Amino acid sequence: MNKKSLVIIAIFSLTLLTSFCGVMKVLDYKNIQPKVLFAGVRTFVNDLFSDTEYVTAEQSRIDVLHYDLKIALLTKKEKIKGDVTITLLNPITNNLPVVLNFYENMEVSELLLNGSETEFTRDDYHLIINKNEVQTDTVVINVKYEGTPKRLGFDSFSFDKYKGESVVYTLNEPTYASTWFPCNDIPSDKAFADIYITNDSSKTSVSNGILVEEKFADDLKTAHWKTIYRISTYLIAIYSADYELFTDTFVSESGDSMNLQYYVFEDDLEDAKLDFANQKDILAFFESKFGEYPFIKEKYGIAEFLWQSGAMEHQTITGIGTNFITGRKMFNDILIHELAHHWWGNAVGPMSWKDVWLNEGFATYSEALYYEHESGRNSLISTMNSKFSKYYDKRLYDTEGSLFSGTIYNKGAWVLHMLRREVGDENFFKILRNYFETYKYKNASTNDFIKVCENISDKNLKQFFEQWVTIGSEVLQIEYSWKFNQIKDGKFKVELEIKQTQNDYEPYEFSLDINFSSETESISKTLKIDKKESKIDFILDFKPAEVKLDKDSWLFAEIDMNENGN
Ligand SMILES: [Zn+2]
Repeated sequence: MNKKSLVIIAIFSLTLLTSFCGVMKVLDYKNIQPKVLFAGVRTFVNDLFSDTEYVTAEQSRIDVLHYDLKIALLTKKEKIKGDVTITLLNPITNNLPVVLNFYENMEVSELLLNGSETEFTRDDYHLIINKNEVQTDTVVINVKYEGTPKRLGFDSFSFDKYKGESVVYTLNEPTYASTWFPCNDIPSDKAFADIYITNDSSKTSVSNGILVEEKFADDLKTAHWKTIYRISTYLIAIYSADYELFTDTFVSESGDSMNLQYYVFEDDLEDAKLDFANQKDILAFFESKFGEYPFIKEKYGIAEFLWQSGAMEHQTITGIGTNFITGRKMFNDILIHELAHHWWGNAVGPMSWKDVWLNEGFATYSEALYYEHESGRNSLISTMNSKFSKYYDKRLYDTEGSLFSGTIYNKGAWVLHMLRREVGDENFFKILRNYFETYKYKNASTNDFIKVCENISDKNLKQFFEQWVTIGSEVLQIEYSWKFNQIKDGKFKVELEIKQTQNDYEPYEFSLDINFSSETESISKTLKIDKKESKIDFILDFKPAEVKLDKDSWLFAEIDMNENGN
């Protein structure tokens, strides 16, 4: 997901009012955190994902194999009719009841277990079948229901209108799929899905995977979409509106060709054609760095929707808000980010929401990698600097506070940037490829990633990940001062003092580049810093005019010089 808050002044107020949290980008609005405005929504989102009641202990041992979702949209009544069939490995073998997530306001008219009506109970967001006497390896649960799905979180299910015409869209992340279909709403329980959307025949209905067929009956049309790859429930999406479709073709390194499908509102068709024109180049670049696009037998698609806070990486069909299609590529970073999620988040899924930085940090760093590829090293540095703020001061793993805060995105990206420095370019990109190959179509935890990093680099990275990911929170703060004196002809001694001034984690350990320069000379040294206070002497062949730390921006740190040495 990518949420824009205060990106350009022109849409300042609109975006401010519709955003949920401050992921600051592009311009330096880093210090403005619209916390007060969005506190309510943030709290709600946080409460639910952290609520262990939502995912019960029994659920974490359930394995869904397939979802068959038949969703009829009754847009005038703002209701849906669902006929959902879930195939799962029989939990009875583990003496478990069948527990699924499903919001209680959805009225169930019939529930069948392997074809027979069965008793069930409900609570706020569960559907529980306690008596499961079926002895087969798999059980098939069919639920027929009706109701108006709650619009929770980031617009879990929306009946909306654009220029007077109905637009239906969903955005489940993180724990809202069960507002509109019964499911085991855990990112690590991936399953195949067939999704049937029925709406007025004039509407185009879009979802994950490939379009199998469209069937017409009376004034209605049913679009059948099918996934060939497993999908997490939070990535399942439906969109249904008056869409214009335009397409493109991507040919992978291996010669496989794939359809690119873009569903946009008529007004935005020409702008979208300009904005989306470079998707093929981005695909090719990511393929060259990470490995083949993981959904090559399906598609990559983008659908316009009315969530006006950014975009969401629904598997093979990214949703993008109308405000972010401009015809001037103003939000290219969002498009790069969502496409990168198809490697990071979608193919390699998070083991749990505690690992969400593996989604957002990776997608955010992928933006910087693409800019580096497009415009060179300075562009990488300026992109990383634009993603720095001393307010990104939360722990990344199992974060406190918002699951989708600027810390998760930007500090997450910085960790990868620093890892690249720590292990070197060659190892870094080997790590990314190996991690992708090992965990694609599955899920990975932070520990899984650390293991890959250590195996490939042959380095002990315990301290690195503890300070930047699993324990450390506060931004590394460095204060330094320096002075020099001439010790003999042409030789100068520089005394450098470096202090770490952050409070909650110390000392950080890191490599630090120190650059000494005069008008005509420049020399850099790299030191390993592993103490709260360090005093280091250097002998130079020239009289220094300036001493700079971390000149090339490799460190997620706030650096201040206390006094000039002259
Ligand atoms: Zn994202």
